[in-house]
Amino acid sequence: SFNFSAGPAVLPASVLSQIQRDLQEAQGSQTSILEISHRSATFQKIIDQAQKRLRDLMKIPNDYAVLFIQGGGSLQFEMMPLNFANKTGKVAVLDSGSFAHKAALAATAVGKEGVEVASSRAEKYRFLPSLPSDFDPADYDYLHITANNTIEGTAYHANNLPQTTGRLVADMSSNILAEPYDITKFDAVFAGAQKNLGPAGITLAIVKKEWLAEQTLHNVGPMMSYQTYIDKDSLYNTPPVFAIYALNLVLGWLEEQGGVEVMFKKHQVMAGKLYDYLDHSDFYHALVKGDQRSWTNVVFTTGDAKRDAAIAEKADKAGLHNLAGHRSVGGFRASMYNAQADEAVEALITFLEQVRKEY
Ligand code: PLP
Repeated sequence: SFNFSAGPAVLPASVLSQIQRDLQEAQGSQTSILEISHRSATFQKIIDQAQKRLRDLMKIPNDYAVLFIQGGGSLQFEMMPLNFANKTGKVAVLDSGSFAHKAALAATAVGKEGVEVASSRAEKYRFLPSLPSDFDPADYDYLHITANNTIEGTAYHANNLPQTTGRLVADMSSNILAEPYDITKFDAVFAGAQKNLGPAGITLAIVKKEWLAEQTLHNVGPMMSYQTYIDKDSLYNTPPVFAIYALNLVLGWLEEQGGVEVMFKKHQVMAGKLYDYLDHSDFYHALVKGDQRSWTNVVFTTGDAKRDAAIAEKADKAGLHNLAGHRSVGGFRASMYNAQADEAVEALITFLEQVRKEY
């Protein structure tokens, strides 16, 4: 069977086997991985290795900090404005999907101002909004984008990033390490682990240290301040040891696969096959057009909500799980992250074609 869930996502089989072994006893420590101390030498090696692997895989320069934080992408919607919206107090948001919208609301909720400078909300987020021609970066502390819109199936790919001379923050929760981005184009990047990095429970934040050094924070507690995580190497309080350990295993697997470029090719082949099938079908159609299409989340429909729901249910019984689109979009969503099996897309297309013939 295949799992097309938007997250938590499939983990590599080799990682799951390693976890099973380490649940009994982690690397000669005579303790289960669930029991090791975050202050142990065993764990220090793990978190250091995870950081080094991320630096290598994403080519993160030394003037950026690589931090592990709890609270998911959603907490980053609050931490980013608290740490970085200190001059104008305003965050510009390209409202490309419901997570961008949430980020704007969160900025306002923490006492800053989240301003949606462009939005495709009224068009159901079927395409990406672009920066208005009169956008002045000086009016805002930074611009927030969602690199990949998990729900709506659009993405600002590396060759399609908004052009701004101001600071740029990207939520890469659903395409981190799935496609290459030049990290130096961003001032901060974050991603919840549960799609491409590992199980839920840990979030990666990459922040430019020089930008952070410019900030004066008011009423921001230590847990909400990136500087704390920098000063304490992400070990200020007890981190989710297991989630970081599993993330490190996933990164090791990714290195063995050949890294981000290899993943990117894999996604272009997998999602490409599905888009190609949909584009040649008179029964299904993709909801997003052209080069704005996501490589990790493919959204499509037959145009009939009831029929879509019935087909998604039938797919589930046939071993193709979690294909129903998000409730705000409907239709189907096939999420294919880094650990997705190559055969999954073939199985899906075969199934869709069989169903088409039946109707
Ligand atoms: N941003 C994006 C692009 C997401 O896909 C998600 C969750 O799916 C989030 C943010 C929210 O992340 P979390 O559930 O880790 O808070």
